[in-house]
Amino acid sequence: MRYRASALGSDGVRVTMESALTARDRVGVQDFVLLENFTSEAAFIENLRRRFRENLIYTYIGPVLVSVNPYRDLQIYSRQHMERYRGVSFYEVPPHLFAVADTVYRALRTERRDQAVMISGESGAGKTEATKRLLQFYAETCPAPERGGAVRDRLLQSNPVLEAFGNAKTLRNDNSSRFGKYMDVQFDFKGAPVGGHILSYLLEKSRVVHQNHGERNFHVFYQLLEGGEEETLRRLGLERNPQSYLYLVKGQCAKVSSINDKSDWKVVRKALSVIDFTEDEVEHMPVSPPQDLLSIVASVLHLGNIHFAADEESNAQVTTENQLKYLTRLLGVEGTTLREALTHRKIIAKGEELLSPLNLEQAAYARDALAKAVYSRTFTWLVRKINRSLASKDAESPSWRSTTVLGLLDIYGFEVFQHNSFEQFCINYCNEKLQQLFIELTLKSEQEEYEAEGIAWEPVQYFNNKIICDLVEEKFKGIISILDEECLRPGEATDLTFLEKLEDTVKHHPHFLTHKLADQKTRKSLGRGEFRLLHYAGEVTYSVTGFLDKNNDLLFRNLKETMCSSMNPIMSQCFDRNELSDKKRPETVATQFKMSLLQLVEILKSKEPAYIRCIKPNDAKQPGRFSGPLSSRFDEVLIRHQVKYLGLMENLRVRRAGFAYRRKYEAFLQRYKSLCPETWPTWTGRPQDGVAVLVRHLGYKPEEYKMGRTKIFIRFPKTLFATEDSLEV
Ligand code: ATP
Ligand code: MG
Repeated sequence: MRYRASALGSDGVRVTMESALTARDRVGVQDFVLLENFTSEAAFIENLRRRFRENLIYTYIGPVLVSVNPYRDLQIYSRQHMERYRGVSFYEVPPHLFAVADTVYRALRTERRDQAVMISGESGAGKTEATKRLLQFYAETCPAPERGGAVRDRLLQSNPVLEAFGNAKTLRNDNSSRFGKYMDVQFDFKGAPVGGHILSYLLEKSRVVHQNHGERNFHVFYQLLEGGEEETLRRLGLERNPQSYLYLVKGQCAKVSSINDKSDWKVVRKALSVIDFTEDEVEHMPVSPPQDLLSIVASVLHLGNIHFAADEESNAQVTTENQLKYLTRLLGVEGTTLREALTHRKIIAKGEELLSPLNLEQAAYARDALAKAVYSRTFTWLVRKINRSLASKDAESPSWRSTTVLGLLDIYGFEVFQHNSFEQFCINYCNEKLQQLFIELTLKSEQEEYEAEGIAWEPVQYFNNKIICDLVEEKFKGIISILDEECLRPGEATDLTFLEKLEDTVKHHPHFLTHKLADQKTRKSLGRGEFRLLHYAGEVTYSVTGFLDKNNDLLFRNLKETMCSSMNPIMSQCFDRNELSDKKRPETVATQFKMSLLQLVEILKSKEPAYIRCIKPNDAKQPGRFSGPLSSRFDEVLIRHQVKYLGLMENLRVRRAGFAYRRKYEAFLQRYKSLCPETWPTWTGRPQDGVAVLVRHLGYKPEEYKMGRTKIFIRFPKTLFATEDSLEV
């Protein structure tokens, strides 16, 4: 028997296709809200699997888009696809990123409210790809601004530049973003993009000096070596072979089959020229002092190759004169000053300045600290530079005043590794904050809709992770405060005294555990230098080793002074002399991060939110294939974990707690009026009254639906399915 099959959106729109099975069985439901067994995680995952098998990577939970990385080009982002999703209602077409893109854009235009698209998911889940597709959608479909059309190009071109400097190959993703990014796109009153602004978060700068096995440093180093012109490399004193550079060999995988550094470099060079970089700023000029970005990239490589040997008194001496010579030139600093700064530490004692020699280990530490500081500050400089180029040139014109903003957030997902350190602590804290915002906004908007429609509603119980956010960020007794306090006791405090203080201060917290505080059974799983947080997404055990150091982010004073004297204009903007005279302690890394997150949350709160939840189907970076042993490409354990920490089941529960389905009276009547003689073929009264007649005729029971001010709310999907099915007969 053949059915006329239909897959159902939560607005009851069918996607028809001929098939031997009903499409609902074959391709699942396109909105999880329509799942009969909506509390079952197994049913949820089964639905994802069915759709993924059919290359349907997108599914909704109401307005939230769930996306599964296909790891292959599905040819679904063409201009034709864009057109298909423009101006149509969210549910009239199969779920797609462009449906969200268009809905958000239309809301921005018609309601003139700022929007924020928050894209989350773990490393490799497809956040950055989604962000790029969204930007492309806007660049291609929005009208061009009257003036300053270059902004569209710049918005697009900011990506390759930031990716070159901020992305790297990791075990999880060959193009992993090692920083968080929030990008605002500004639109004028005609809906044309006229400007933009980027905020970046916590670049993983430790990668500059160290990479784990199978990982690489930031792309730009390999790109420059592979793609840079002979002449350029010669001027920078670089060899082509990445193996020549200690900062590039630690992960032992300079070459990656999926990456073409040479052609990527071309793209980056072009992008740099689009975003207002004059040739002088990019290229090394043959005049002294050099004024360019590439000298800085090269200087980091040279720094990594600086070697030290111990003299008779065990003091470090630089032995690599050639590297030092290049460094001096490229960074625009005095040779003797740099040599001294790399091997000594300036101490101010009783008002007197003393130079204390460093031993080998300390000198290597100072060198690496300098490399990290130079690179990460250059990254910040780059973001500022891009922002200047994206700033609307029309700031004073009337159209500027009426701009609306669309924000795109592409930020690291929850991380649990074998070994978790300060970086994971910060990243997971960030995820707690965003989860809190998500709960607040989804619940809030859900409640608001019921309120606006005059529908009585029982609020849903959900886990409020505020308690964990407080544990991390509370003044005086939160983990960051305690960490900062310990950082104020140089020489005395260690990572372990920090842990002890933590144990004393937060000992009875239900989400905090250490070896000492754990019961006999749990104790075995905790090392003595570790603490465990019970995050909303699960337990993570952090090793405290390096916490103080990473939080302090110390750069010895004389290295700072040396850099402040740099004649390289980029460096002199990165190292400001005021820093030297500033008596106030600079904010610690964790505190800076906390402040930037608070600011981010405020930004996001002021906007209408949209969510894209990205899921990675396997750890092998492989496209799905479902026959035979390769079905592991849809790795159920991995996916279940992501469904959990993305809070998808909770999201669905909230969405279903009230009414599974809601639709404007006009649309509902239009679709089902043929089922009732009184409404067919035309109903001349108010649509609301027509719907009342219609549902009475269909035999809806009072507990099955509610009539709001503008919409009908239906509690269970089966009610709607039954109505849908009667259309088929
Ligand atoms: P990270 O947190 O490490 O930055 P991410 O979530 O940003 O990870 P992406 O870089 O967007 O992950 O995606 C990883 C890779 O997966 C991409 O390089 C691409 O090969 C593939 N990919 C992601 N999304 C899609 C998609 N929609 N279609 C095809 N391939 C995709
Ligand atoms: Mg990314």
